[in-house]
Amino acid sequence: MLQNKVALVTGASRGIGREIAITLAGQGATVIVNYQGSKEKAEDVVSFIKENGGCAESFGCDVSNFELCAEMIGQIIEKYGRLDVLVNNAGITRDGLLMKMSEEDFSKVIDVNLKGAFNTIRHASRYFLKQRSGSIINISSVSGVSGNAGQANYSAAKAGIIGLTKSVAKELGSRGITVNAIAPGFIETDMTDAMPEKAKEAVKSQITLGRIGTPADIAGVAAFLASDAASYITGQVISVDGGMVF
Ligand code: NAD
Repeated sequence: MLQNKVALVTGASRGIGREIAITLAGQGATVIVNYQGSKEKAEDVVSFIKENGGCAESFGCDVSNFELCAEMIGQIIEKYGRLDVLVNNAGITRDGLLMKMSEEDFSKVIDVNLKGAFNTIRHASRYFLKQRSGSIINISSVSGVSGNAGQANYSAAKAGIIGLTKSVAKELGSRGITVNAIAPGFIETDMTDAMPEKAKEAVKSQITLGRIGTPADIAGVAAFLASDAASYITGQVISVDGGMVF
């Protein structure tokens, strides 16, 4: 259980982040629901958590902005006096084959998906070190583990998340701080909704468990990694992909 813990979940207004926020709050954490543009949706998540007896608030911040991340984390510490769980979930795609990929589409995906995680970790770590505790959970992807045609930018960012996770785990481990990554497979959210049915069926045929994943499949693992039950797990990449890659 996560009573008395304060958790920040980035990109939590919808999809996997929303489900992680709701799950952490359901286990007793006070959750900061970070969003970039969709304040209304983030407020819906907060209302849902409160209606179910939990504690939450929304916080708008573009995670690709270093200074704004410093402000967000500073304000959380000022208000709650602590931060225990950081879930770097915010992410975007700008898919396309390498030969047609613009520099902007490459940079934007790296800025949000990889530098965004660096930004929050960089600022939160100060407090984790003072507390001598903290759980960092970074959302990578099966694309970061195996690569994926049409996603050179996204796969590079998600593979970068794995390197970031392992390096920071080694730097912070002696202070009781755990850093792990989750590599989801194909999960039903707005991000994957745009894919044509035929392409979805093709992906499904590669999944050992024979079904597309749900945000709840990821949220349960995130809640475990945030809990004291996972306090001896660090530097790991946990694939939650229905057996897509092994
Ligand atoms: P989604 O598009 O539904 O949600 C992404 C969230 O991130 C949105 O709420 C969006 O507003 C937010 N976001 C985007 N840019 C942001 C920024 N600069 N600052 C703050 N928030 C920002 O996607 P999802 O499927 O829920 O994905 C969540 C995470 O899981 C992402 O990191 C994604 O790469 C990863 N992932 C998803 C799948 C999948 O199949 N859906 C698979 C592997 C990994």
